[in-house]
Amino acid sequence: MPTPQTPPSRAETAAKIASNPSAYKVCEGCDSIVGAGAALCPNCHSFRFDAAAEQVIRQARILGAREQTSVTAEDLG
Ligand SMILES: [Zn+2]
Repeated sequence: MPTPQTPPSRAETAAKIASNPSAYKVCEGCDSIVGAGAALCPNCHSFRFDAAAEQVIRQARILGAREQTSVTAEDLG
């Protein structure tokens, strides 16, 4: 079933991240992409990150492909 109104495209965000991977890093706890300046992951509070550009790009592609799934704001309990 097609959605008439798409919220801010995850694929668009992923493309933006992939084009500037040095501004981001990947959480090793939950695979979230966070800003390079973050000290803790906002999702899982991990402090371990992988800042390698290839990892950021790879993860951005994965997130971009998961357009229909909500991957954030679910584990805030
Ligand atoms: Zn995390």
